[in-house]
Amino acid sequence: MGQELVLKAYGKINLGLDVVRRLENGYHEVRMVMQSVELADTVTMRRLAEDEIVVKTDKSGLPCDERNLAYKAAKLMKERYSIQGGVEIFLEKRIPMAAGMAGGSADCAAVLKGMNELFGLELSLKKLQEEGVKLGADVPYCLLGGCALSEGIGEVLTALKKPPACTVLLAKPDIDVSTKHVYENLRLDELEHHPDIDGILQSIETEHLEGLCEKLENVLESVTGKEYPVIGEIEKLMKEAGALQAIMSGSGPTVFGIFKESEAAKEAMDMIRSKSLAKEVFVSGFQA
Ligand code: ATP
Repeated sequence: MGQELVLKAYGKINLGLDVVRRLENGYHEVRMVMQSVELADTVTMRRLAEDEIVVKTDKSGLPCDERNLAYKAAKLMKERYSIQGGVEIFLEKRIPMAAGMAGGSADCAAVLKGMNELFGLELSLKKLQEEGVKLGADVPYCLLGGCALSEGIGEVLTALKKPPACTVLLAKPDIDVSTKHVYENLRLDELEHHPDIDGILQSIETEHLEGLCEKLENVLESVTGKEYPVIGEIEKLMKEAGALQAIMSGSGPTVFGIFKESEAAKEAMDMIRSKSLAKEVFVSGFQA
């Protein structure tokens, strides 16, 4: 019924990630600089006459039932806005899973936008963000995309300039990291140093790539990086291959390196693969 809607759900990296404090409800107050990357899932949606939500995917092992964030997004919109009829959603997964790249949140955001369009709801971005935060702290950012400062639990967003163009090498080592485990094991009181988020903002404002790269830092590396030495090994390899900087994204384990030359990034990709440090490796770039 009706035509297909094809949406891109972009992955993200954290140019900076700081945890300010732990809240009583178990959430954490954060200060993060988020940046979309070109690497994306493709979300194809179409309306169904039957009153059902059908999710399909090309990724084995990804549940397509109520556990899937795309399903949750469709269900929330159907219930909240009394939508008659159903929807079919196909997820072409390219963003590595459980990787610190918010792949699930990106799909969730795409489906919220898709439901808005397919059913003519005409909801504003702000309204979609208010619905989205109920499904995940990164969803409001994924609805916005580009470069943004994310504060509060992730729902207080300030859009930023796009940082200078560069090549981004993404490598996800073959380990699964639970975001919950990483936050629970973060020892905030023992940290001697916090990432310079204000410095990162300033470098973005002045379009200074080298200055920006000097300041890239993720406080969660103190947990995931300690547990999995392969993260440090990939960072070392990327830097030796010419990256201006290489750090972990989100709760990990994906490592990203910032390169000026795409050739150097491709060489680093081949080395990471040949040393079996990671199977999922992608040459990408910043997405506006
Ligand atoms: P974040 O950076 O927000 O912590 P992540 O990259 O660590 O995200 P995701 O890939 O978003 O993690 O998903 C983590 C878990 O969520 C997966 O193990 C998966 O079972 C579940 N999940 C639910 N829906 C999706 C989806 N559409 N895509 C990927 N994972 C999903």
